[in-house]
Amino acid sequence: MLDIQKIRADFPILSQKVNGKPLVYFDNGATSQKPQVVIDAISKYYQEINANIHRGVHTLSQLATDAYEVSRGKIQNHINAKHAHEVIFTSGTTHGINAVANGFAAFLKPGDEVMVSALEHHSNIVPWQMLCEKTGAALKVIPMNENGELIMSEYDKLLSTKTKIVTVNHISNALGTINPIKEMIDKAHEVGAAILIDGAQATPHLKPDVQALNCDFYVFSGHKICGPTGIGILYGKEEWLRKLPPYQGGGEMIATVTFEKTTYADLPHKFEAGTPNIADGIVLGTAIDYLNEIGFDNIAKYEHELLEYATEKLLEIEGLKIFGTAKEKTSVISFNINGIHPYDIGTIIDKLGIAVRTGHHCAQPIMDFFQIPGTIRASFAFYNTKEEIDTMVEAVKKAQMMLS
Ligand SMILES: *Cc1c(COP(=O)(O)O)cnc(C)c1O
Repeated sequence: MLDIQKIRADFPILSQKVNGKPLVYFDNGATSQKPQVVIDAISKYYQEINANIHRGVHTLSQLATDAYEVSRGKIQNHINAKHAHEVIFTSGTTHGINAVANGFAAFLKPGDEVMVSALEHHSNIVPWQMLCEKTGAALKVIPMNENGELIMSEYDKLLSTKTKIVTVNHISNALGTINPIKEMIDKAHEVGAAILIDGAQATPHLKPDVQALNCDFYVFSGHKICGPTGIGILYGKEEWLRKLPPYQGGGEMIATVTFEKTTYADLPHKFEAGTPNIADGIVLGTAIDYLNEIGFDNIAKYEHELLEYATEKLLEIEGLKIFGTAKEKTSVISFNINGIHPYDIGTIIDKLGIAVRTGHHCAQPIMDFFQIPGTIRASFAFYNTKEEIDTMVEAVKKAQMMLS
């Protein structure tokens, strides 16, 4: 069992008041809060070892380089990558997806197909559309059903030897659906397609095992897993990262440069042009250590309890509808109340100290599917409580009364 009060004490922001009320932070799907160890690690880096990495022979540069590479190793262990050089530091999920989509331009021609799902975040749609425009490949979309689950029989029908890459999120940020990615990965491989998994919304709740999954790419963001903003990870299988052209050119990513020809550095540096986000790369390792100490099994179990409790309480509100009722779901609840705009509810409950997300959640195609302008999204983390859920439910009832 988790000691939630002890965990909450690790997060200084959680004891703040917002608009004169104790903060209830239910916008974890957008970004997580940070524990004191993470906040401290950022200032410790700048106070004690700040230097550029891989360049200097001086002591601080060595210390910074070592800390950066130790962190890479922690992330390698965390996701069970075969090699540390398969772990590329990026600025976040969006950067990771763009790096792969850009590189794939070298492999595609008109007639080829790129496949996304109906459940994607805009950052896993737009880079692939750009790739298709550039190469003449066609974009195919795996449809979903009313529960917000991908329709696997349609996926089977869409897959063919024309499919060059499939890209799908592990968990939907808008609805909380957990996709059957193992099955999807195996099926993509059967037709010879590569597959990228957007793990931005999964990594806060579970520990992915990229070797067991056998995915070709897996991307995620540091800021959603208790780490800083501006740092993320692109995992790629070695064979793919060797084939894929680099996304950016510059310092750090080269072996030799002449005006006639440049040769690229070995992995992982080929994909890490320029001075990277050294501090946050190091601190991402601290955040992952923190989460592993709590334990992902404990996190998943407790968050599931929060999900069930909140679902039951919210459904007691008359006229409330939940969007996303997949059998396999994480602790995200998207809902609306009959006749009331989500933004109006969000604004009123903010005055009561409650932070939820309102709008399309960077997933407009999902909103179009349900023919709604947006939803109110409450997304829970392991530091949230049932009492906070009660507070939100009361606040939503109050807003409903005021608005109807
Ligand atoms: C948050 C999120 C992204 C984008 O992540 P950034 O950190 O903004 O780059 C992409 N996909 C999903 C599923 C997300 O939840």
